[in-house]
Amino acid sequence: MFSNTKRVYNFSPGPATLPTSVLEEVQKDFLNYQASGMSVIEMSHRSKVFLKIYEDAIASLRSLMSIPDRFDILFMTGGASTQFALAPLNLSAPGRQVSYINTGSWSKKAIEQAKLQGLSVNILASSEDKNFSYIPKDFNLAEDQDYLHITSNNTIFGTQYKKWPSPVLESEAKTKCPLVIDMSSDFLSRPILDWDNIALLYAGVQKNAGPAGLTIAIIAREYYDREKENTPSLFRYSTYAKNQSMYNTPPSFQIYMFLLVLKWIAEQGGLIKMAQHNEKKSELIYEVLDKYHDFYKAHANKEDRSLMNITWNLSDTSYESLFLEMTEKQDLYSLRGHRSVGGFRASVYNAMPLRACEILASCMEDFYKKYS
Ligand code: PMP
Repeated sequence: MFSNTKRVYNFSPGPATLPTSVLEEVQKDFLNYQASGMSVIEMSHRSKVFLKIYEDAIASLRSLMSIPDRFDILFMTGGASTQFALAPLNLSAPGRQVSYINTGSWSKKAIEQAKLQGLSVNILASSEDKNFSYIPKDFNLAEDQDYLHITSNNTIFGTQYKKWPSPVLESEAKTKCPLVIDMSSDFLSRPILDWDNIALLYAGVQKNAGPAGLTIAIIAREYYDREKENTPSLFRYSTYAKNQSMYNTPPSFQIYMFLLVLKWIAEQGGLIKMAQHNEKKSELIYEVLDKYHDFYKAHANKEDRSLMNITWNLSDTSYESLFLEMTEKQDLYSLRGHRSVGGFRASVYNAMPLRACEILASCMEDFYKKYS
């Protein structure tokens, strides 16, 4: 289809586009990594060379995200979908209460996994009434919740928390409820300003930070107390913490690529710069959606718009294939929306260049002028 060297702008929601310089470095070092005579993909995870990669990745992530010392960083597998089950398994217990905010398909899957374990699950708020086009803001927490689970960015519907809630439990002590956060699709896209009441934050890396197969869990150590004795070893967060995430063989090549992406983010100026860049990119596309709002129908409420996944429909859906044809001619790929929203979705993760968003915005202008 394409020559070996031609690359397109890939707006896929994940696995997703990665920085070209990272891919080139992987390619350059693929057969012989730092004169070790072997590829990282073949290397023992106990070797000195790999341990350095592991330690650099931990240190680099801690520094980029300003993760306080009381948190462990764990390298896991199984995707965020496994975390949907592990979070309740480790942080709560049958009969106890947990709270969830339902902002879309991924929240629903998380809720399902908690229910399967016999927890008493409170759905504090949901935006299902409007096909998940907004982030609910009004809710009350009862007392004695083990945690509140939120989905930071809703990949399918294109909504995002601008600020995470910090609810106070309605108990006498008025303590803050610990948060469990699925950050799969906006991980490393913006700084985290307040770690105070975070218990657990998790993300698959295949959107902003590397290839599929590596899942990051960042957990405050005090929560290991909640683990149950009959939980199998590999399903406990503390097992990963005690064994440098190497109780079993870790996804070593993915960790290596993750490190290269972390270095790339640092070179770009870190997470504040990343967030500014992401704002600028998404703004270009939202501007066109707003300008021609009778023709393009943005799905998400303005104040809850995602900087990562931009979702919209055409007011006349019969033009959809023409739109895709036109954008593909400009090398803009994977723009079809998820079936639960339809229309289009542009995923503009960290590695998506500004240039790609400029081309898409101008394509949308041209399309409007031709077909409106
Ligand atoms: N949560 C969110 C917000 C997601 O976008 C995804 C994947 N698209 C998942 C969870 C599930 O991740 P995985 O496929 O890695 O299990």
